[in-house]
Order: sequence, then structure tokens, then C-alpha cells
Amino acid sequence: METQYDLLLSGGTVLTLDSQRRVIEPGTVAVSGNRIAAVGASAEFEGASATRTIDCTGSAVIPGFVDCHDHMEQGIVKGLGEGEAVWEWLTTLIFPLGDAMTVEEAVAATRYAAFEAVRAGITCVMNNQYLPWDAETTDAVAKAMESVGLRGVVARGMTGTPPPAMAHRGDDARPWTYSTAEELQIMRDLLDNWSPDRLIRLWPGPNNLVFNDQELIRGCAELAREYGTKWHTHCCEAQQDPDIYKKTYGMSPVKWLNEAGLLGPETTLAHTIWVSDEDIEMLAASGAAAAHNPVCNMYIASGAMRLGQFLEAGVTVGLGIDGPCVGHRMDPFEAMKQTVLLQRLDTLDPAASRSETALELGTRGGAAFTGFEIGSLEEGRLADIAVVDLTAPHCGPRPRAVSAVVNSAGPRDVTTVVIDGRVIVDDGRCVTIDEAEVAAEAAAAMESVARKAGLDHYLEPWLDPSRN
Ligand SMILES: [Zn+2]
Repeated sequence: METQYDLLLSGGTVLTLDSQRRVIEPGTVAVSGNRIAAVGASAEFEGASATRTIDCTGSAVIPGFVDCHDHMEQGIVKGLGEGEAVWEWLTTLIFPLGDAMTVEEAVAATRYAAFEAVRAGITCVMNNQYLPWDAETTDAVAKAMESVGLRGVVARGMTGTPPPAMAHRGDDARPWTYSTAEELQIMRDLLDNWSPDRLIRLWPGPNNLVFNDQELIRGCAELAREYGTKWHTHCCEAQQDPDIYKKTYGMSPVKWLNEAGLLGPETTLAHTIWVSDEDIEMLAASGAAAAHNPVCNMYIASGAMRLGQFLEAGVTVGLGIDGPCVGHRMDPFEAMKQTVLLQRLDTLDPAASRSETALELGTRGGAAFTGFEIGSLEEGRLADIAVVDLTAPHCGPRPRAVSAVVNSAGPRDVTTVVIDGRVIVDDGRCVTIDEAEVAAEAAAAMESVARKAGLDHYLEPWLDPSRN
């Protein structure tokens, strides 16, 4: 084969995640422009030339990981707020943080999280931005993600007019900045001024299906259909959420979405832990997608999503990190491994989950969830690729690539990351930014925002575990 490419990733174990799940060893992935030009056995590429060739011998070459649910700005308080249930965690740490955060601090936090993400092999992030969520910050955060070279979505979080369900919650420390009509107008203006062809897309991302005004949810779903985007929200993360909703509206939130005609392929929901069998069937029938966040769900002790049942029913499922604050790492390897382990523990069945499934959810599932042409290594797909070195002792002695990637490897094993055909991580370093400068800016922003928000007590070096 004599062909000229821009980039050749040659000699690795290529986990294509294509429709046949081909594993090619040694294999080569060729990139031209922003797309994958060819994938095959390395022998087929003898005589091919490229502007750059990266030797991937001893490495797995995989589609970049797609993080389907994140709050990147929360990384600024990574390490704080341990041992708190979700509402306590939100009201004592996260909401005060958001109220104190400036645009510059949100940008510093997001750039750091994007840097951390790409270094770990994440090539696409669905970032549900709600701290803060004014138009200026939303725009700046999207551009901050782009400045690192990351693909993804900013789903703008919104609260809207306080709904009746909030009365059942009891503790409302959240300022309700905008009315539902104002939220929808801000979102419409943002969509009008943002090209859908950029590396980052904008979606409506109302914060929570249970605790937002139904008219806000309806408006967001309608905006998504009008602009050809998807929309995103948290759904039944806490055990009491569906009961609160039923008490207010007489049915489960998923059932309401379905009856209101708002469930469809553009609907993407985070968590979906406390949902009924009927809810799962409605999600499957509508083409809606769910983001499973195992590390966050264990960290906050929210519960275990019934992943097996979702997949059996045919629901599109992707994996999420849910913010670097609820797990302390933007780590796709941890998300995949914990996906496997949580299902086994929850079902007390070692056959309930497999490494292959976790890698599929982290790549192909994420592609279906976000709607980008990514998630597999095959000709014509957008070139979002991660190279994972499997030669370290913890991956040896003779790695079975899929198991090593899911169960043994970690962010530090990622040597090369390509996004949209561009090498973003090269020999383990992020080359689109000054890494030290991004880290220093984020550290300074953490200090200042924690002080302004009155969160200094969280910074104590040792917290008494019995204090709760
Ligand atoms: Zn979340």
C-alpha cells in the first residue's frame, strides 16, 4: 500500500470497537485531516508514508474515552467535602462555591479539568456547567475546553422558577437567579451565537428533572429539537427523588417526560438509579440515553444503577466521571473498572459484567450518547484516539489488551492522545497548553474561591472522621 497520510499510529494492539469488535495485532491506524483514513494490520501499511509516524509497539490503541457526564469546574475543590450525602454536599460546598466563582476562576478550573482529562485519554466530555451558569461564563467555559483541544459539549445548567417539588425538599439554600422564561431566552441566545460545527457543542442542561420547573424541562427539550441538539439533566440520583416527584405530580419523572412527549433520542439523563422497570422500558422505547457514573454513585453512596437491565432493554448507556470532585480524578480507567465491579457487587454475580462491556460503554456508548461520529476506530470516523502503554509491571506480564486497559492501566499509561486528527498529548505531555501554568492558575483559583465562599474549614489538613 503506497499512500500518504498525516499520521500513522503503528505496531500496537488496535482495539477497533467496530461493529465486529476486531482486535488487530500488530495493527496500524492512519489519520488524514481530522478523520481516520484506514485501519488494518501493520503489514498492510508497508510502503505507506506519513508526515508523522508514532511507534505504538507494546501499547493498546483505542478510541478516546467519552465522558458522558461531568461538571469540570468542580475540580477546583477536588479533595474537599468527603462524607456528605448529595444534598448536603451541594448546599454546603458546591452551591456556595458557584456563588463565589468568577468567570476567570471557572475558566481556570475548566482548563485544568480539560488538561487532566486529555492526559487520561478522555477525548470528549459532556460538561454540565452550572457553577455559575450565566451566558458569559457558559461561553467562556466552552472556549476554555476548546483551548485545550478537547471535543465535547457544554450543557448549560439552569434552575428556572422554583417548582413545587422544592417545597418537599425542605432545605432550599439555592438562589434562583433566573425565571424559567429568562433561562430559556439566555439559552436561545447562546445557541443562536454558537456554530454547531465547533469542537464544543452547546446543549440545554437543566439541573435536575425532579427539582426544576416542568416548564423549564419542556422548554429545554423543545429548544433541543428546534436547534438539532440534545439536552441533558440529572434524573433520580437520590433515593427519595422519585417519591418527591410523585408526591408533587402523581407520577414518576420519566413517566411525565414520556406522557409530555419529551422523551426521545435527544434526551440524555444522568444517573437514573432510582427508576422503575416501567421507566427503563420507556427510556428504551424512546431512544433516550443514560449516563452511568459508578465512582460518583459510590462516593456519595447514592445507589447502583441496574446496568444489566438497561442494556438488556436496549437503552443507550455511556459512562461518566461526574466531576473531578466526586472521585478525585478525571479517570476513565477507574470509571470502566468500577462499572464492572459495582454491577458484580450489586447483583452478587461475578458474571453480571465484563471488561469488554465497560470498554464499549466508555467509547461506543459515549458516541451514541453525545451524537459525535466517534467511539470506534474505523475508516471515516473522526480521529479521536488514545494510545495506552501496556509495558509497565502493573499491566504485565502478557497483557490481554481489553482486560489490561479496563482493569490494570491508568491515566499515567496514556502516551498519545489524538482529537480531531490533532496530537493533543504527545509522549505523555499535553502539548496544546503550558501544563505548569494551567496547574498554577487552577491552584490559585482554588485558594481564592474557597476563601471567598467561606469554605476554609474544608481545607484543614486532617479532618476528624467522627465529626459528622
Ligand atoms: Zn452530576
